[in-house]
Amino acid sequence: MSTTTGIERNLCIVRERIRQAALQCGRDPAGVRLLAVSKTMPGQSVLEAMAAGQHWFGENRAQDLIDKAAAIAGDCEWHFIGHLQKNKVRPVVRAAAWIHAVDSPELLARIDRIAGEEGRRPVVLIEVNVSGEARKFGCSPDAAEALAGEACRCRNLDLRGVMTMPPFGAPEPELHAIFGGLRHLRDRLQESLGVSLPELSMGMSGDFPVAIAEGATIVRVGTAIFGPRG
Ligand SMILES: *Cc1c(COP(=O)(O)O)cnc(C)c1O
Repeated sequence: MSTTTGIERNLCIVRERIRQAALQCGRDPAGVRLLAVSKTMPGQSVLEAMAAGQHWFGENRAQDLIDKAAAIAGDCEWHFIGHLQKNKVRPVVRAAAWIHAVDSPELLARIDRIAGEEGRRPVVLIEVNVSGEARKFGCSPDAAEALAGEACRCRNLDLRGVMTMPPFGAPEPELHAIFGGLRHLRDRLQESLGVSLPELSMGMSGDFPVAIAEGATIVRVGTAIFGPRG
């Protein structure tokens, strides 16, 4: 099987699994969007996925996103899903339509200021470390309200929801607890801040059906589309 047909075929399989997972819990499959995580994959793989109708691509390294966004023209949108370093905010704001993992007031303020200077208005999600387990990134559930409140006051970004990454290898009951916990947190934020936060970015190749059962609106899928990373 050639790589070309591989990506197209994998995309079909992933889309069908998304559809089934949504239907199984009584959700409209159109309410779950697929972000293809193309990190470490060559531009050619992105082009093949685009040819198969994929529009959203995610990268977790700033330089890779910048390079691919510059090289690949056409009907696609770039999402930055990694930890954003201060000195990469400007080029990422120029190239990315979405930034998924904002977890500090400093980063938020910097994105807002630079987006204003660049005449951009990225969609922003707040990354929450729901399980409280020792992970490097993501704000605590307790810090999320202040951060979301801050984001609502920013003029040059569009806060649309929250994102999480469970600890690697978490068993299914824990995944349900984490993804469900993010949804409950989002519900509380909407209530206390009086804003709409429709997006729940959660679920990867190994766990997206669980995330969909818990309300995911965006699943970030790499390996199941592009194959294993080297
Ligand atoms: C790599 C990555 C993914 C996709 O992981 P797969 O297991 O390959 O689907 C999703 N989200 C983030 C933040 C990632 O870094």
